[in-house]
Amino acid sequence: MISSPSARDSKGGNGLLLLLLAAVLVVFPLLAYLAWYLPSVGLVHIHPLLPWLAALIIGGAALFLCFGLTLLLLTLVTGRDLFLSDFLRRITVKYLVPGILGLGHLLRCDRERLQQSFIAFNNQLVRAALQPVPAREVMILLPHCLQRADCPVRITEDLGRCRRCGRCAVMELIDLAQRKGVDLAVVTGGTLARKVIAQRRPKLIVAVACERDLASGIRDAWPLPVIGVTNERPEGPCVNTRVDVARVARILEEQILSGIP
Ligand code: SF4
Repeated sequence: MISSPSARDSKGGNGLLLLLLAAVLVVFPLLAYLAWYLPSVGLVHIHPLLPWLAALIIGGAALFLCFGLTLLLLTLVTGRDLFLSDFLRRITVKYLVPGILGLGHLLRCDRERLQQSFIAFNNQLVRAALQPVPAREVMILLPHCLQRADCPVRITEDLGRCRRCGRCAVMELIDLAQRKGVDLAVVTGGTLARKVIAQRRPKLIVAVACERDLASGIRDAWPLPVIGVTNERPEGPCVNTRVDVARVARILEEQILSGIP
């Protein structure tokens, strides 16, 4: 059976995030209780109402966080966007998930697996929330390390310079973009990526990059939806990288509004 891109992403990395999230949900109420109980012993000597005030503030913050964490957990399990507002979604993507993954880093979990978890979660959320968009509003964003290191032409400024020798995935991706009618850009780093996005203003980006660049790029671009596809690095980082072009094509199939260019 051929799995959908969303299913593949979920299997790829959400497990670690789910595990960390479940651990935080168990430990966090205990920490919140301790954060209230320890100072409240002293506070009662200052004023008898102060422990109650502290309980209101700490309890309120803890409840809000547990609510957000529970929504996140249910979103991960069901694959649906269950966030009730952009505010909650923003807090979750910008702070909650990076916070949980930061905790995973402290617990010495593998950094790349943590970033994969974040990318898989983001992809799931984007797919669940986004309605298909016209092809002209979609952009494929590629890192220049996909191009062969010994390729004599510079394609970052003009993709038309590609000589179509077929030694790297750029040729296939140019063909794919033309076939689907979507925009395509090759960038050398985060600064150029931000500039291209600001100039072309797409409604959806399908970005290819390493885990680290995708994780930071997704956060930088928020609330602009980005679906991340990690590259393959058989020769090490940043040189002659590869990507599963068929996977990029499946994402476009899924997200493009058919019949509208
Ligand atoms: S396909 Fe294009 S970009 Fe890739 S190596 Fe050949 S000429 Fe260079």
